[in-house]
Amino acid sequence: MTTASARLAGALEAQRERLLPCVHCGFCLPACPTYNRLGDENDSPRGRLHLMKAVVEGRLDPASDAFQVHIDRCLGCRACEPVCPSGVEYGTLLELARETAAEVRPPDLLTRALLTVMGSRILRSALFLGGRMMRATGLARGAVRRLGRDGVAGKLRFAMAMLSATEEPRFPDGGVSSESPLSAEEPVGPTAVGATVGVLDGCVQDGLYRRINEATARTLDANGLDVRVVTRQDCCGALHAHGGDLTMARRLARRNIEAFERSGVEWVAVNAAGCGAAMKEYGTLFEGDAMEARARAFSKHVRDVSELLASAGPRTGARVECSVAYDHPCHLMHAQGVTTEPIRVLEAIPGVEVRVVANADECCGGAGIYGMTHPDLGSRIGGDKVAAVRETGADLACTPNPGCMMQIGAGLRIEGGTGEVTHPVELLDRSYQRAGYYR
Ligand code: SF4
Ligand code: SF4
Repeated sequence: MTTASARLAGALEAQRERLLPCVHCGFCLPACPTYNRLGDENDSPRGRLHLMKAVVEGRLDPASDAFQVHIDRCLGCRACEPVCPSGVEYGTLLELARETAAEVRPPDLLTRALLTVMGSRILRSALFLGGRMMRATGLARGAVRRLGRDGVAGKLRFAMAMLSATEEPRFPDGGVSSESPLSAEEPVGPTAVGATVGVLDGCVQDGLYRRINEATARTLDANGLDVRVVTRQDCCGALHAHGGDLTMARRLARRNIEAFERSGVEWVAVNAAGCGAAMKEYGTLFEGDAMEARARAFSKHVRDVSELLASAGPRTGARVECSVAYDHPCHLMHAQGVTTEPIRVLEAIPGVEVRVVANADECCGGAGIYGMTHPDLGSRIGGDKVAAVRETGADLACTPNPGCMMQIGAGLRIEGGTGEVTHPVELLDRSYQRAGYYR
């Protein structure tokens, strides 16, 4: 047995209590987007668990295509977890399998480059500065119109469409509300009001969606929370964990734990579903490490921003007349079990009509850079999501995760639409601005 498969064996051994009851019932199959599209058992959760076991038992070489291809093709959406009657921790096992796969066969160049850049504050600052310049000058938007659909040009076009999708959406005007903001409800709720909170800056959020981080701080403040600046925080490490680089994921996680501990805040607010899921699972990431107890304690204080806002009310804002197509991010719905809170945030905005997208529980195909590393399958999964969003006929798409915002926005733009996508907190912030809460 190789070192890599021995490590996976050790990891599976640690999960034995939850793995052994896997009765191969197949309840997870219909929930799996890759199995639904490809119809291959190896591209299902049950099939992938089977492959992991085969590696552990020395029956399958982790460098083989059988292992590499099917583990790589997984979106990591975790739709298979809540439907599993045995509670198999598929997400944790997938990260360990990816680490095993990466040890014997390094990931493709694009994935390696992305992980290297995201792991370095300097490199990602440079990347995002370039991205903001391409966005501001309209180069990204223009490239979507000019580039072809196939080959390298197609991948570049999709990347440009994702970048252009991070532009601030044009909200329907709707005018200033005639309702007095003074008649709005006062914040209520014992959990959050008056508590100190720090906002995770994140990597993509800080680089391309700083306006949403700022909206997060303003809306929490407007709901009675005491928002503090937390310095020396870093990328959450989710991209690295999903890409099989658990060493870098732990390094980044440690920096965040130390930064938020130093700040003394009671809550860590996260507005990106993928980051929130990773940070709530830092304890598992450090399993068996000296940091484990601290990581588990830290995770208890991590909340999606919608959870904090919902526990504080949230305070009703001014009217914003529009309809939104709401889509559940996988890492909020399946990994964190947060489904109603973002809707409550939107319901605090008079005039907003929420239309939940059909099959909103299915992955949008974002999954990091899946659309570029798996263009065919990614575009089939993403295409179905974009069609469902368009089907609602809503003015804006709305989802609380940067990867999903970029994926859905890119699909909409490639289809020729404006591709306006927002985050619930961004819309709430707009409503609060109209209400005059920040004066
Ligand atoms: S639902 Fe759970 S127990 Fe059933 S096959 Fe899938 S992983 Fe195994
Ligand atoms: S994480 Fe998603 S794509 Fe991967 S096996 Fe589970 S349901 Fe299928």
